[in-house]
Amino acid sequence: ALLDSLDFIVLVLVGVATLAFFTKGKLWAKEPETDPYAGGLGSQGFGSTTSFGSFGGNSNKTRDITKKLEQTGKNVIIFYGSQTGTAEDYANRLSKEATQRYGLKSMTADLEDYDYENLNSLGDDIVVGFVMATYGEGEPTDNAVNFYEFINDDSSEWAESDEPSADPDSPLSSLNYVIFGLGNNTYEHYNEIGRNLDKRLKKLGAKRIGDYGEGDDGQGTMEEDYLAWKDDLFSAWKEAKGLDEHEAKYEPSVKISETGETASSEDSSSVAEPDAEAMSVYLGEPNKKILRGEIKGPYNAGNPFLANVSETRELFHDPKRSCIHVEFDVGTNVKYTTGDHLALHIQNSDEEVERFLKVIGLWDKRHNVIKAKPIDPTYKPSFPVPTTYDTVVRYYLEINGAVSRQLLAFIAPFAPTETAKKEALRLGSDKNAFADEVAKHYTNIAHVLSKLSGGEPWTNVPFSFLVESLPHLIPRYYSISSSSLVDKSKISITAVVESLEAPEYAIKGVATNLLLDMKIKKDGVDPSKSKDPQAVHYELSGPRGKFGGHKLPVHIRRSNFKLPSDPKKPIIMIGPGTGLAPFRAFVMERAKQAESGTDVGQQLLFFGCRNPNEDFIYKEQWAGIEKELGDKFTMVTAFSRVDPVQKVYVQHRMQEYAKQINDLMQQGAYFYVCGDASRMAREVQATLAKILSDQRGIPLSSAEQLVKSLKVQNVYQEDVW
Ligand code: FAD
Repeated sequence: ALLDSLDFIVLVLVGVATLAFFTKGKLWAKEPETDPYAGGLGSQGFGSTTSFGSFGGNSNKTRDITKKLEQTGKNVIIFYGSQTGTAEDYANRLSKEATQRYGLKSMTADLEDYDYENLNSLGDDIVVGFVMATYGEGEPTDNAVNFYEFINDDSSEWAESDEPSADPDSPLSSLNYVIFGLGNNTYEHYNEIGRNLDKRLKKLGAKRIGDYGEGDDGQGTMEEDYLAWKDDLFSAWKEAKGLDEHEAKYEPSVKISETGETASSEDSSSVAEPDAEAMSVYLGEPNKKILRGEIKGPYNAGNPFLANVSETRELFHDPKRSCIHVEFDVGTNVKYTTGDHLALHIQNSDEEVERFLKVIGLWDKRHNVIKAKPIDPTYKPSFPVPTTYDTVVRYYLEINGAVSRQLLAFIAPFAPTETAKKEALRLGSDKNAFADEVAKHYTNIAHVLSKLSGGEPWTNVPFSFLVESLPHLIPRYYSISSSSLVDKSKISITAVVESLEAPEYAIKGVATNLLLDMKIKKDGVDPSKSKDPQAVHYELSGPRGKFGGHKLPVHIRRSNFKLPSDPKKPIIMIGPGTGLAPFRAFVMERAKQAESGTDVGQQLLFFGCRNPNEDFIYKEQWAGIEKELGDKFTMVTAFSRVDPVQKVYVQHRMQEYAKQINDLMQQGAYFYVCGDASRMAREVQATLAKILSDQRGIPLSSAEQLVKSLKVQNVYQEDVW
């Protein structure tokens, strides 16, 4: 007999409940929603996982590694713990080389996307890779936190597993692994995550193939460290597993093809008279909602808010350098608290987009509509489709960064001439020649390719190769310099415009020159008369005119860099250069509290710059604040280029205020450092330890321990990059 509809509903519900019980809800559990753009507070140079840019693909989602490998027919899985995307890029490169040169069936995976209970039951034919960045004070990156806790937890299920294959003393004895750590040696906890994970895996009985490798961003040797490590690794891997090496041949993971249509923001039909078909083509809209014009919250990394830029103001009195104060109107759409970060979603300049598209021979076809079909089911597209070549290059590829040596070797087969091919191979294989002829000149990929071929376009390079080989263009972070207590509807940032005078070209920072272009256009000045006559230009109108020349997509990244909840607590702030940004917000907040009758604690602010007449940012504002806060506020300045004999830095001035600093710390002051992560932050920490040792008459080693424990207690906080 047929079931009536009520019986059917009841049966379905019972079925669903049973499934929920046995799968603990995992079947439909949402992928963990971390801020995929999460930036790098002290990230040893490797902020935000680039899985931000995944659109579609990867439809059979499972959190079970064994199942995933079975489903996809892979025998190598390279996991990455990545914050800015660098570790993810290296994982992708390692995986591609394993596939193309050694015939392995390799895939990459975000550590956050899997469970690890069955790590001990992978067969001997499987190899697991770990490419792990170390973050802040020796912490795992956001996407690696759960895995790292799991692997270090002695009570983990797999550690106690009674699987027949598992030796109780070495529960991971069936696991083969390879490992590379990414770190920055100017940080105290250099490469701690990679090193600890390697030790832990060994302790658990896992078998490492090759050596433990690590790269150092502090010395700028990451690329060469990686290349040296992976060459040795593949030799060891060949020996251990008998791999067949053959000449690497590019095998696309995605097929990119043209649809036969064209679409562009310049084309009025896609702006003024949106017909359904034209409107389905992404021209730089960050997601479907924005593409369809349904702009609504909640706003986050995947759905940034199009914020109106209400003010752009020059803060330097330097004839050449610029530092811009930028104010965004966010109304009630975006919530932030003082100390948070603002992420700017950016695009490449017209000049670099044109240079790149011309060198790969796609300039005339730039508005052709393209679609992308993954060939490898594990491939994650980094841009939404359908779209155009121009859009991918402008909004999704990092075309302006330093070139990797390995990329030159891989791109060589697609060279337009024999000479270009030889040159690409020579530079790709000769470390010293590459350093001398490429790296030293700060050239980007388009510059290099054009130079190698004497201007001949590289029309044979598959677009999929570029999409797979170049890093993704990721948002840039800024420490918010406004206080949410003073005005929660406005967010300001303070950005130094990055421009490198290389021998042949000026290399312009992507985000900061976008802000500069916006400022020049807002001010209505003749660009040739602006501070930077070679300033580059951007598509400020945005896709289909949606940014209107005055809006930028932004999202907030919550930070732990916060004022003490008790306004009476004294605070000591060290903020040279743009490190001053969050302290402008802190002090404005305290001034506002004082104005409304709150008793606020002492504030001691150390600021450093080159010269009081050139780069003393917000100089006029500080005088007003000093008046408002009276003896509750002291600003101490250090100028590095005033005295030709001695450069004075904030650390030197801290020594002069040793007694006051110690007194305030004894009264429970919070200590904050913001700005340059590589040298300043470390020297400030060492100076504070020295001050506490001298003032309290305790050994330096005890004072250093004390400072470390203040960090653990969040009394000593850093916002460094
Ligand atoms: P990018 O394009 O990222 O370039 C970065 C640098 O590399 C530039 O100096 C550029 O000239 C150089 N470069 C580019 N291409 C090449 C090449 N081919 N070869 C060699 N060198 C090259 N910055 C601020 O100014 N103020 C802040 O308050 C601030 N807060 C931050 C907070 C956090 C948490 C973080 C992580 C960073 C913060 N930053 C801040 C830094 C900021 O995010 C950007 O990194 C910075 O503004 C540069 O961005 P850009 O896109 O203009 O430069």
